Amino acid sequence: MVLRRLSALAAAVALLLGGVLVAASPAQAAVRVLYYDASTAQEFASVVHQGAQIWNARVTNVRLDPVPAGRTPNIRVYADNGWPRAYVTSLGNGRWYMGREATSQGYYQPRIAAHEFGHLLGLPDRRTGLCGDLMSGSSAPVSCTNPNPNSAEIRQVDAAFAGSLATAGTYVWR
Ligand SMILES: [Zn+2]
Repeated sequence: MVLRRLSALAAAVALLLGGVLVAASPAQAAVRVLYYDASTAQEFASVVHQGAQIWNARVTNVRLDPVPAGRTPNIRVYADNGWPRAYVTSLGNGRWYMGREATSQGYYQPRIAAHEFGHLLGLPDRRTGLCGDLMSGSSAPVSCTNPNPNSAEIRQVDAAFAGSLATAGTYVWR
């Protein structure tokens, strides 16, 4: 509580020193929305949505939403017969593939979807072999049905997107 007050005070001082007034509520200002397109994910569209929802339920600084009509998605999702994989062009932007090489071997599809979204959210592979780690990917056993990021992975994503909305809010020159 004391730390929270101190950091609120520090933020207020920073705002005064910077001459910048952010009028939007912190919760709104902090969330960056990334649009993803699951329409090209073939039979995996619903599990792609599931992967997005897994992240949305756990992180606060970024949200994955289905792309509205007429908008360019940040993330495109495809399906093919190769291994699941992600191509990240920049934080929050790129494409990933739901690969049947893994699904046909029995790897848990929601875990694959959440894992590949994890790459778009800034996480690298960490082949620890542990089912508790989302980013351990296929190094965890095929029997692993944990689709959820662990607390460190959640923290890392929130940190990656913290302050990424510096352009949002209201700024007053004075
Ligand atoms: Zn991976």
